[in-house]
Amino acid sequence: MFCTKCGKEITDGVKFCSHCGAEVNSAKPAAAPAPKPAAPAVPAQMPGHDLAVASLCCSIGSLTVFPIVLGIVGIILGCVAKSQGYKGSLATAGIICGIISIILPIIGIICYLLFMFFLASAL
Ligand SMILES: [Zn+2]
Repeated sequence: MFCTKCGKEITDGVKFCSHCGAEVNSAKPAAAPAPKPAAPAVPAQMPGHDLAVASLCCSIGSLTVFPIVLGIVGIILGCVAKSQGYKGSLATAGIICGIISIILPIIGIICYLLFMFFLASAL
């Protein structure tokens, strides 16, 4: 350990510094501060993690099974997850997939309508 007054190295356990004679505290001030046990307790999951997972599941379900409606649910769940402090990419992925799952069928419907329109005008 090191003397708190002169900073020189002294033997562990001694009461007085052998260099300057100052009383040595048992607590080591030069050592790193004691870790705070409760303060930075890392949570097992980020807040909103479940919602973010649900958001991505809904959006993927919207892309594959039930378009638009599940996509809207996925976007809402993703936004709620973000508002709860979720910082991961799952919520963003859920929102993006949800938007894609809504846009794709709309584009498909528009293409279908345009195709039918041109087909009807050609006849
Ligand atoms: Zn000293």
